[in-house]
Amino acid sequence: MNELELLNGVGVKTAKILNKLGIYNKQDLIEYYPFRYEILERTNIDKLENDDRVVIDGVSERIPNVFFFSKKFNKMEFLLNTGNNIYKVIIFNRAFLKTKINPGTYITVIGKYDKKNNTIVASDIKLSLLPKVPVIEPIYHVCSGITSKELNKIIINNLNDIDIKEYIPEYLIDRYKLINKNKSIIEVHKPSNRVNLHNALNYLKYEELFMFMLKINYLKNNRVDTLGIKRDIDKSLVDKFISTLPFELTLDQLKGVNDIYNDLTSKKRMNRLLQGDVGSGKTIVAIIALYINYLSNYQGVLMAPTEILAQQHYNNITKLFKDTNIKVELLTGKMKVSEKKNIYKRLLNNEIDILIGTHALFSEDVIYNNLGLVITDEQHRFGVNQRSSLKNKGITPDILYLSATPIPRTYALTIYGDMDISSIHTRPNGRKEVITLLKSNKEIKDVLDLIYMELKKKHQVYVIAPLIEESENSDMENVYELKDKMDRAFSKICKTDILHGKMTSKEKDEVMTKYKNNEISILISTTVIEVGVDVGNATVMVIFDSFRFGLSQLHQLRGRVGRNELQSYCVLISDKEAERLKVLTNTTDGFKVSEEDFKLRGSGDLFGTRQSGDMNFKLADIKHDFSILLRAKEDSQEVLSSKEYVNDKKYFLLRETLEKSMNNS
Ligand code: ADP
Ligand code: MG
Repeated sequence: MNELELLNGVGVKTAKILNKLGIYNKQDLIEYYPFRYEILERTNIDKLENDDRVVIDGVSERIPNVFFFSKKFNKMEFLLNTGNNIYKVIIFNRAFLKTKINPGTYITVIGKYDKKNNTIVASDIKLSLLPKVPVIEPIYHVCSGITSKELNKIIINNLNDIDIKEYIPEYLIDRYKLINKNKSIIEVHKPSNRVNLHNALNYLKYEELFMFMLKINYLKNNRVDTLGIKRDIDKSLVDKFISTLPFELTLDQLKGVNDIYNDLTSKKRMNRLLQGDVGSGKTIVAIIALYINYLSNYQGVLMAPTEILAQQHYNNITKLFKDTNIKVELLTGKMKVSEKKNIYKRLLNNEIDILIGTHALFSEDVIYNNLGLVITDEQHRFGVNQRSSLKNKGITPDILYLSATPIPRTYALTIYGDMDISSIHTRPNGRKEVITLLKSNKEIKDVLDLIYMELKKKHQVYVIAPLIEESENSDMENVYELKDKMDRAFSKICKTDILHGKMTSKEKDEVMTKYKNNEISILISTTVIEVGVDVGNATVMVIFDSFRFGLSQLHQLRGRVGRNELQSYCVLISDKEAERLKVLTNTTDGFKVSEEDFKLRGSGDLFGTRQSGDMNFKLADIKHDFSILLRAKEDSQEVLSSKEYVNDKKYFLLRETLEKSMNNS
């Protein structure tokens, strides 16, 4: 039975839905934190700029007008009298509310203010006036089958007698006058006011970052005395191999190779991160590292996050090594047992030099003869215990991590404090740079012209609607609004479709497949279009209300186009924050972009949308919360270096948790 079914208000069906959100037990449930908060407080509309968020209440006037565009797509309009003024309100796909909004009904409207037309494009409507005191409503990421409100209710129903472990040493709680953890957890799900919520979030973020930095510092402290393999390698052989490559390495690639060569030939164990944008050419550097390792007669492995990527790496590598005697094999979980067994045997007999694969590379049965180098693609960091569990003849292999999420050096030094870092800043020549344009809403005609030109060449277009998530449904609202716009402009010449987070994965797959097959020319989407999506024929990325996104996120979105020799464009539409957005028109270097992003986002806005990305923290964000991170770094080091840490009972939980996390990380 699903453990969740024992909880208040959770039946078989709900349990299954919660599982989809990654919630499997009570602990998961109470630690499923809101990603933002909605504060219901009347806005002063006179002071608003075009497109600003608005929360306003009043009385409805006149019977609403409803227009049906299709079965799934409708638009409703009505008038809202606030006492001072009358506004037109537009809301998409709420035709079912029509009979509830009879003239004279008290209504709260949450949405976006269109100043010119004195209109509010609503994302949510509540059939009541605003409460006297501001209400803070937690908003959760959800999936179809459950609303944020419903989830909140389930969590609140299960907040009694929870088993809460305090990890932060008491003296630190005193030092920072933190409120207690139990209270913090309740507060984030059931906010009482801004101040208490702020303190609660602070506690939980600090704890999260403290535990993270404890681990990093632990690894760093232990690293000093790990001896690696000292190799003797003729550098000219490496250079010779490089000269056989079908292209010339960029300076950054050469520098990366050099760093790795130095590591591998020194007696210190290598623990290096190689970071650079997708397509910057990390893979070839990794392959050269494997070659250097091979020259010193050790086996090497390359682990990829997915079977497809592993296969791709395998094809690449066998091609590059075709004129050598290097024996390369592929090992994935999907392979037949007999095939796997054959590989295990040859591996042990040292008949395989390089093994490419997925996690299967580290399964129980895999025993290496003399593993000298482990490379993992996309930051699959694994802990010390796991590292030493690589069954190997008493050798500690060197480690190289590849990461496609570039972050500035100062930040990298903290969160990757236990590693050395090499960075690739420039892309290899060949691919055309994406041309990035910044346009205001007034200049929309230019944008439509550009789209039209590309459509005529049979190319495809992404249109991104900003992620506001004012309510559970709003990400759809924006998408529908934009679909309306695009259809008005292009319905005669092409097909459009939508993609958003409230669709089931089956629906999403269907739309993506159609887009891949060029049956849809314009895809209007929220940011759910994943990083993995690869449609080479898409040459235009249009991002509405770009100011709502972080620069790094815009950079990631831009990476969806310009994936081959076609000239591609990224158009940022925004009436605000032109200075900040210009960073993107000036550079395609992911490091510069993230540097600016870190600088600008600074101390952060508690109630804004949290950026996801870089690290998988539940609440903390290394950009917004960098000052907390720095504190956590100092404090965790202080704890680790203290005499009591090693022996004192009061640190037992911390020690145990740290050790466990080393196994799972
Ligand atoms: P990453 O792993 O950083 O995402 P890849 O290593 O897959 O990037 O490189 C992207 C593409 O660029 C590959 O097709 C690769 O063969 C090619 N490439 C890599 N380095 C160079 C270079 N110096 N000159 C030209 N093409 C290169
Ligand atoms: Mg790669």
